[in-house]
Amino acid sequence: MKTVLVGLDTDELGALVKEEGEPPYRGSQLSQWIYRHGVHTFDDMTNLPARLRTRLAQKYEVGRSKIVATQHSRDGATKLLLEMHDGARIETVGLPYADRFSCCLSTQAGCSIGCAFCASGLGGFVRNLMPGEIVDQALTVQETLQSGTILIDNRSHRVDHVAIMGMGEPLLNYVSTVKAIHLLNKELGIGMRNITVSTVGLPPGILRLAQEKLQITLAVSLHAPTDRLRRQLVPGMTRWSVAEIVDASREYVRHTSRRVTFEYCMLDGVNDGEVEARELARLLNGLNCHVNLIPYNPVSGLPFRAPSRARLRVFREILRGAGIQTTQRVRRGVDIDAACGQLRRQMKKVRK
Ligand code: SAH
Repeated sequence: MKTVLVGLDTDELGALVKEEGEPPYRGSQLSQWIYRHGVHTFDDMTNLPARLRTRLAQKYEVGRSKIVATQHSRDGATKLLLEMHDGARIETVGLPYADRFSCCLSTQAGCSIGCAFCASGLGGFVRNLMPGEIVDQALTVQETLQSGTILIDNRSHRVDHVAIMGMGEPLLNYVSTVKAIHLLNKELGIGMRNITVSTVGLPPGILRLAQEKLQITLAVSLHAPTDRLRRQLVPGMTRWSVAEIVDASREYVRHTSRRVTFEYCMLDGVNDGEVEARELARLLNGLNCHVNLIPYNPVSGLPFRAPSRARLRVFREILRGAGIQTTQRVRRGVDIDAACGQLRRQMKKVRK
């Protein structure tokens, strides 16, 4: 098998061309072609000598994924089902807004956690993604939306915000996730402050990430203020208590001076009551944080419902009343099953 280049940074590409007897600036040229122009083959790298292009193509490949299915939502959200070289399939979502172009990236094919309300865990865990496979998603979404009819107002039509919030648990694929963040920043030019990593809440991973001192946003999917409720909603992660997760988040804030986001998937009659709102407010008291309420996005076969607007409002106001900044996620892509893992699941059913 040929060595894949997407996933290597400029320095690594420079070392690779040096072995071919080429000057270091060829490494920068390769990086530009792969990450800025998003080309898929060496033939497209027109400022490289033809001889070098042929030589590189014998040993290496750019290594981009294949698009298996595309879904465009009426609101502009675009979801792609991508296939890796070994047939593993993952989802990625492009979210063009009026003033920015965001992309939601997966870090694993499948997921091992199995949150009660999430489609990704239903098919089990397949494998970790390589850094290049994470970054490829942003390049592929960008290319798809640039070539389509969807208007993106951001001036360069480039992905400029990334949420590492797709399939999988990023902190269980730690090294590749951190490498991907550096690539997104240095090679694609996406500001660290525009990158968010969402974790189910693994204290050792959160503490390790704190040491990297990245200016990214950490989002912790808490979903419950008590261990009893958390165990029910995140059964694959009972090793750590809610208090330990919040303590690790506090450490993260202390090390990075970055405000942490807590995500809370709102499930009607399960975790959305006034009691839970008050418990959550007490738990997060004094922590530099922000709560993002995510109304449940229906997954076929699961026994949950999104709360009414009235219930959401009461929950939100209790938190706000306690001085906790709270926002409610605007649902996008509902008509294309944009909740993670759903398209992959759908396509499996179709194939049978
Ligand atoms: N494993 C990471 C990232 C993937 S999930 C994490 O747990 O954060 C990304 C976010 O989507 C999480 O907050 C998750 O709870 C939420 N999510 C998953 N399925 C959902 C659904 N059906 N409706 C609403 N939010 C969902």
